[in-house]
Amino acid sequence: MSDSVQRRPGNFIRQIVEEDLRAGRVRRVATRFPPEPNGYLHIGHAKSICLNFGIAEDYGGTCNLRFDDTNPHKEDTEYVEAIQRDVRWLGYDWGERLYFASDYFEQLYDFAVELIRKGKAYVCDLTPEEIRAYRGTLTAPGRDSPYRDRSVAENLDLFERMRAGEFPDGSRVLRARIDMASPNMNLRDPTLYRIRHGVIHHQTGEAWCIYPMYDFTHPICDALEGITHSLCTLEFEDHRPLYDWVLDNVSVPCHPRQIEFSRLNLEYTVMSKRKLTELVEEGYVEGWDDPRMPTLSGLRRRGYTPASIRDFCERIGISRADNVVEMGMLESCIREDLNRRAPRRMAVLHPLKVVLVDYPEDRVEALEAPNHPQDPAMGSRRLPFARELYIDRGDFMENPPRKFKRLVPGGEVRLRHAYVIRCEEIIRDHQGEIIELRCSHDPRTLHANPEGRKVKGVIHWVSARHALAAEIRLYDRLFTHPHPDAAARETGRDWKDFINPDSLRTLTRCRLEPALAEARPGDCFQFEREGYFCLDAGSGGERPVFNRVVTLRDTWAKIEQQLRGENSAPGQS
Ligand code: ATP
Ligand code: MG
Repeated sequence: MSDSVQRRPGNFIRQIVEEDLRAGRVRRVATRFPPEPNGYLHIGHAKSICLNFGIAEDYGGTCNLRFDDTNPHKEDTEYVEAIQRDVRWLGYDWGERLYFASDYFEQLYDFAVELIRKGKAYVCDLTPEEIRAYRGTLTAPGRDSPYRDRSVAENLDLFERMRAGEFPDGSRVLRARIDMASPNMNLRDPTLYRIRHGVIHHQTGEAWCIYPMYDFTHPICDALEGITHSLCTLEFEDHRPLYDWVLDNVSVPCHPRQIEFSRLNLEYTVMSKRKLTELVEEGYVEGWDDPRMPTLSGLRRRGYTPASIRDFCERIGISRADNVVEMGMLESCIREDLNRRAPRRMAVLHPLKVVLVDYPEDRVEALEAPNHPQDPAMGSRRLPFARELYIDRGDFMENPPRKFKRLVPGGEVRLRHAYVIRCEEIIRDHQGEIIELRCSHDPRTLHANPEGRKVKGVIHWVSARHALAAEIRLYDRLFTHPHPDAAARETGRDWKDFINPDSLRTLTRCRLEPALAEARPGDCFQFEREGYFCLDAGSGGERPVFNRVVTLRDTWAKIEQQLRGENSAPGQS
């Protein structure tokens, strides 16, 4: 990624960084990515990862990975491990700079004591409900807590006893002493520490029963790590005055600059970790890495490459404008990447048997086929060709519409990389369903078109005897509405009412060309005319399972049309 400085588009954050460097305000850029380990990373996090690590990379700086683990009852080491795996998979390296907010618990405590000594923090005995009531509203100022003017000595004593475990959950908090009349609600004496007994923190165990709040922890961690630019999403804009207040009132070595940008929202999915957790825990999907999930582990299992996701993050750019990105954008990134890189193969999704009546029964030819039509360096493979083949049911029609270019009774079609065949006879079972086609082949047409012969269509096929049986999973969008959250709000229904019941279709009778026996989990291919497919990570043993990563062309526009009831001609899938 060393050529990326010129290639990466500029954005307002890069401009700020460049100006800070030019003016000498910053000598070495330091950023951080600060996930809370309470879920798996999703494509929205990728935007933040690419921004933070990308800036560090391009300006010769560093990017820390820091777990924001101040909320122990929702966090877990499973998530800590998955997050590291996913950041690494995306192609980023934090080197030795792996931190946990909990690494700083002792220092954070000392800074809280410093605030108390300066008369800038106090222990408050109001109940959570009272605190809320005292806080005022957007239009009315808050009221001072009756505990606001406790002496420093009393505050020090009570805070120490909070730490020692003398008081039950919810009985007391430590609050900053700022301004109960501030127009910014975040400055109305925000809570800095709360009591949480009986939780076992994944890093600190039972060492603590008081935990610092995010707004107190984050600026201090940033400062202690020498972060220069603390990049976060727009919901933290109103917290910036508090971020700055904390740094101005404790003795930290530097004052990082917080800059906000807009979150990534993607159509037809949800991005909140709470909702993603619900999908997993209530069994709407098979797990965090279900190929329908917008998580990085789901996208990976689906067959997305790290390069395609980084490309996507560059294309969407960084700004402060709220927006929802179309799924088609993400899909076109993987389509472009796989078009370049994925070997071509043939796979029949809905098999229909073809018997070549004029082809010798014991004969097998090994036909050469390139792995990539534009890239000879990718080599070729041999396709066994024999008397009995499978083609796709959709490539034959008994009563075709006028524009149908594939196989019809008495008509001809070319088999990709092989011969032109003609359909001579249809065989049916006793219910009248077509179970086989008897065809002839023209031996002069191997890789060639004898003069005067007009063959309209080319279809894919596999040799029946040599093909691998496989399962193929076709995925559709996870929700039926492009904005499930907004739809739920507008209709007063639950967001889960908009889950697409047909988001997974499993085809169990597929037949693949034999070269695919060598595929390893995670390998991606273009199945000609069908799309891009990835061997499932859990696939092993007798029958391989392939996930469809994406179709060959953008089918979303068509889906949109169908949703609006226009042009709903049945597709040929
Ligand atoms: P949630 O609100 O669903 O719990 P979160 O945003 O709190 O998720 P964190 O683990 O705190 O999740 O996020 C880590 C970093 O990733 C934060 O800096 C956050 O701003 C950023 N981030 C999270 N979601 C997005 C998104 N959709 N687009 C861009 N950045 C995001
Ligand atoms: Mg968060």
